Amino acid sequence: MSGALPPGLGDWHECPRVRAMNDRPIATGVLYVLCWLQQALRATDNPVIDAAVRLGNALGLPVLVYHGVREDYPYASDRLHHFILGASRDLAAGCRTRGFACVQHIDRADHREKGLVYRLGADAAALVLEDQPTFVARWQAERVAERIAIPTYAVNAACLVPPAVLGDGIGGRSGFLRRHEPARAAWADGEDVQTDLPAYDGALPFVPDDPDGDIEALVAGLDIDHSLPPSAAFPAGRAAGEARLHRLIRDVLPGYATTRNDATQREGASGLSPYLHFGVLGPREAMRAVTSSPAGARHKTKFADELLGWREWFHYQARALVAPERYDRVAGWARATLAEHAGDPRPHLERLSAMLRGETRDETWNACQRQFLRFGWMHNNLRMYWAKRILAMTPDPETAWATACYLNDRLSLDGRDPSTYGNIAAMFGGAPGDTDRPVYGRVATRGDGSTRARDGGDAWLAKAASRDVPAVTVPSELPRERYV
Ligand code: FAD
Repeated sequence: MSGALPPGLGDWHECPRVRAMNDRPIATGVLYVLCWLQQALRATDNPVIDAAVRLGNALGLPVLVYHGVREDYPYASDRLHHFILGASRDLAAGCRTRGFACVQHIDRADHREKGLVYRLGADAAALVLEDQPTFVARWQAERVAERIAIPTYAVNAACLVPPAVLGDGIGGRSGFLRRHEPARAAWADGEDVQTDLPAYDGALPFVPDDPDGDIEALVAGLDIDHSLPPSAAFPAGRAAGEARLHRLIRDVLPGYATTRNDATQREGASGLSPYLHFGVLGPREAMRAVTSSPAGARHKTKFADELLGWREWFHYQARALVAPERYDRVAGWARATLAEHAGDPRPHLERLSAMLRGETRDETWNACQRQFLRFGWMHNNLRMYWAKRILAMTPDPETAWATACYLNDRLSLDGRDPSTYGNIAAMFGGAPGDTDRPVYGRVATRGDGSTRARDGGDAWLAKAASRDVPAVTVPSELPRERYV
């Protein structure tokens, strides 16, 4: 169910980012406009906040930003909680600087609050939230919009070009690029919308957490997966995201088109994906930095192709799917050929525990998996080998899909994203090959030559396959039902 956009949103030049999720009337005699952030954890260059401020200004109400973190979302771990809470701390500080209130709640045994969005919504004229096409943010937004008594507006903050302006039904990436590339210039700039009102400092239905509290101590006391530690390579918070962006401009971009595919190079790729996934940085800000840098045109074009041409393609695809994380999104021809070969002998079968811990018989695969375990991130070139190889390591294609999604979602900071499932689907499908191989059928296979052939590639892989990694707990069974 959806409705029209109210004043402040309907007449906004960014209104194609906004979607009414229900058709409840704006509430009157209330205290604020509620802006619920789930994943776009940044205070500036954030269209979700801007939409809430526009609506607040039109209604003469301040904006209250809310960010809550539950203990029981799938894969909750020290790694994810730490990254999220660091981002949330900086979000709160940034909101204060911009002149509006931001309150936090971290769900835990001695501080449970049931239905906080609904309770905060009772004093709100409307709810503004994120339009995320995957995982918890999507599930929660859909449920809340159905049940809450106030109008709910979903705003796309993840893409430079709002998917809605591209129209529905684009079937392939070349068709997507034909519409997306000419649209980019119109969405390259944007200014933070300023609030007309003082920050909300009235009553709240709960006692908020201190965003500047001790994150380590808090996380240690939670009932989450403590076997997966925070990533030292990808520190939490806005300053760390900005440092990555500066590093991209200074060290990486000048050679990006040649270094980006080389997994052995420290400064070959940007390492921005964790910060983009959690919205610590937005694509508009990243593209502005790239466009204004002195790097050569081919490097900038290559970066834009990754950040906009690929990332936004997968966002576009996910938006049209009921469940982007499910195996049935893999191309029909690929599922058919894989099914024909489901009974083939599989000499490379591995146990889930060996895969999870990067202790299989395949050195290259272990090198890939140990990047996930140690850093919470994997180089793009390795991810392709890693995903394809899982088809040979698991008993059937559905288990392969669930295993790839599970490992990526649990371990990687950038997992649970439209790019997770879109890329794994591309590895399990892509273009059909002419050769019909055991296990893979007509799905293309991939070797590790692109890394081995690099200068020192063999030694690099051997070292990467034996690097120290955390001893993560092994589940009693794979959470197949989430993916198949
Ligand atoms: P760079 O190579 O520097 O690229 C810059 C940015 O462009 C990235 O941060 C990312 O936002 C975007 N990008 C680059 N390549 C892709 C791509 N193939 N698809 C979509 N966006 C891209 N990306 C995720 O964000 N989350 C995932 O869970 C994820 N899972 C993947 C699984 C497989 C099997 C494969 C093949 C790719 C996956 N990717 C995923 C895409 C890509 O590998 C990562 O985005 C990239 O490696 C992140 O490193 P980087 O930030 O240094 O990227």
